[in-house]
Amino acid sequence: MPAQLTFAGAAGGVTGSCYHLAFEGASLVIDCGTFQGGRIADELNQRPWPFDPAAVTALVLTHGHLDHCGRVPLLSDHGFTGPVWGHAATLDIAMLIMEDTAKLAAHSDGPPMYDRDSVARVRERLKRHPGYGKRQEIGPFTVELFDAGHILGSSHVRVSWTEKGSERAILFSGDIGVVGSPIIRDPTSSWSPENAVDWVVTESTYGDRNHPDRATARETFRDVIQHAILDGGKVLVPAFAIGRTQEILFELDQMITAGEVGRIPVVVDGPLGLSATQLYRRHKGCYDEDALEQLDRGDHPLDMDTFIGARDGRASSRVSDLRGAAVIIAGSGMCNGGRIRRHLAENLDDPKTDVLLVGYQGARTLGRALEDGAREVWLDGRQVPVRARITRISGFSAHADQEGLASWYGALPTKQGGTTFVTHGDDEARDVYARLLRDRFGARTAVPMLDDTVTLG
Ligand SMILES: [Zn+2]
Repeated sequence: MPAQLTFAGAAGGVTGSCYHLAFEGASLVIDCGTFQGGRIADELNQRPWPFDPAAVTALVLTHGHLDHCGRVPLLSDHGFTGPVWGHAATLDIAMLIMEDTAKLAAHSDGPPMYDRDSVARVRERLKRHPGYGKRQEIGPFTVELFDAGHILGSSHVRVSWTEKGSERAILFSGDIGVVGSPIIRDPTSSWSPENAVDWVVTESTYGDRNHPDRATARETFRDVIQHAILDGGKVLVPAFAIGRTQEILFELDQMITAGEVGRIPVVVDGPLGLSATQLYRRHKGCYDEDALEQLDRGDHPLDMDTFIGARDGRASSRVSDLRGAAVIIAGSGMCNGGRIRRHLAENLDDPKTDVLLVGYQGARTLGRALEDGAREVWLDGRQVPVRARITRISGFSAHADQEGLASWYGALPTKQGGTTFVTHGDDEARDVYARLLRDRFGARTAVPMLDDTVTLG
């Protein structure tokens, strides 16, 4: 019987990535992420699996973001006993994320999705994939990873197997990064003919739009820092701990080293952001040429002598005592939790303060209220007047835009007769991108719904 593919997440939305691939009694789960965004997401996270966790041979992770690995301990609690494969950096980041999730759950009101013991049981079963461009046999499957350029360790996962004497192959894009992003290498754009695949499962987060260019984003960023140094105000940067925080650090280091801005203290406030930064410093094998060259010159792209790490609560409180200009990077990225809220509460009423919004701000979040120009916000049980300058920078995305996705797809060798499944996007983005793939590449596309199963034959 041909292989079967089930879409157990990120089909009809961008979160909860999870795919189940079954062939001849063996099966792989590719990603097992958390659904995010309110009560509906909570229900989706708790619903029964559309496959038997105990029967899964192995799990393979594309990268360590919460929406790609957050439900791994839950799958394990529900009977999955196999290994968890991924790029070495992905496994490190995934452990940070899962431990953080268990820690947060222990301090919240509702029943926890899983606890630290569940995470510890997953840790024992982590298996490092030999790396980009290398092959790993798992049951009847061969699993190869290719650089996805999204965050440290992020991978496209190619799975192949032999059916009636010939090779069949599918590629899971994972999240696709942006060409030219700092530190890590770009998404894979040169493939050999042996890498050709029958089927593709591709993300489509920005399948219906393009990003403004990065140079403009850098200029705006630089202007804000220069301004802060002049007036002695704080620059508050709400940022996701993994990926975005390190990108901001890198840009600041470049600007300071090049003398574009003066020296300014740069604080990363929060254990998750600091631990992720350590992983970024350590996994130099993932660096692009520019970062490696800089490293060769003895200048680490993520080290600066004005860096201040605030790991525990006491160190975080001391950040408030800093006099004069400083950049404070803290989570959460949309200001709906985390240490950034205290810094906002302390500084929003000061006209010298800058708030730099460097990521997407979801509806009904504090970040969105600031972005929309709220004159007053509710913080820590009191109304805080907003006198700070709010600046939105949208050129720092970690996801390819429509043209980026299309050129990635155009470079990928595909065999005749297969289908491209467009997932990991809102319905509008998926439809627009699927149409583009049909019109531009003559691709046969499908836009699967949650729990759909298709036969790959
Ligand atoms: Zn991601």
